[in-house]
Amino acid sequence: MQLMFVFPSIRMCGSLLLVLCVSACSAVPGTGRQRLDLMPDRQMSQLGQETFSQILVDRTVLESGEEVDRVREIGERVIVSARTLYPGAPIPKDWEIVVFQDDTPNAFAVPGGRIGVHTGMIRVAESDDALAVVIGHEVAHVLAEHAGERMSQAVLIGGGIMIGDAATRNEDGTTRTAVLLAMGLGTQVGLALPYSRLHESEADELGLLIAANAGYDPRTSIGLWQRMEEEGGTRLEFLSTHPNPGSRIKELQAVMPEARRLYLRAKARQRDAQGPSAD
Ligand SMILES: [Zn+2]
Repeated sequence: MQLMFVFPSIRMCGSLLLVLCVSACSAVPGTGRQRLDLMPDRQMSQLGQETFSQILVDRTVLESGEEVDRVREIGERVIVSARTLYPGAPIPKDWEIVVFQDDTPNAFAVPGGRIGVHTGMIRVAESDDALAVVIGHEVAHVLAEHAGERMSQAVLIGGGIMIGDAATRNEDGTTRTAVLLAMGLGTQVGLALPYSRLHESEADELGLLIAANAGYDPRTSIGLWQRMEEEGGTRLEFLSTHPNPGSRIKELQAVMPEARRLYLRAKARQRDAQGPSAD
């Protein structure tokens, strides 16, 4: 069985490499970085939807209440901001933002516009501004199509062939685990996360700008990451690839002038919209 599987994989790799020569890269909105892009958007979105549906079955969802309202409102503003800031970006039309009853400070996103926020993340965020930075980070993962890039890399390596080929048909445990890992949802299956530090830095940068452009104070991000560090743990999405919180904060500070400019502009827009009586 194993050998029969390897042979078509090699053939498929050859085909994929041909495709790679023609049109396998696309630019990440905002940063302009060329990313490997072998996975069709529709397939990624479908995989995201299937993955998220399973998570909804497996976990405790908070259906209503103050935390749900807050997350939804912030999410809507952040998504509008992402569309405004990156009009050409592949941003899904419909989003689903779900709050999970889980005290672990974590959040995640899957392709197609589905975001999960733990109640523990809301607790550690403390403010709407910092929560917007978290949601901005997740929206940035989606619009930069990081999961698709991870899966494309896996396809090129060869072993990942089965991910793209079988994921929609074959629901055995190995495939499911591979899909979850490629989507950056390692915590869901209790495995170490193969997150790319590059993807995390990119999501930090884009997410900060998106949140700031929505009128949320980007300076809250510094305290947020410090509190996240204090929470500890190595299996959190937000800490997995940043063993050194100092370098993360340094990177955020490099983007801060641009984020501040967007934030002040958004606040001025809000004041204008409220009229001259507002202070
Ligand atoms: Zn991330």
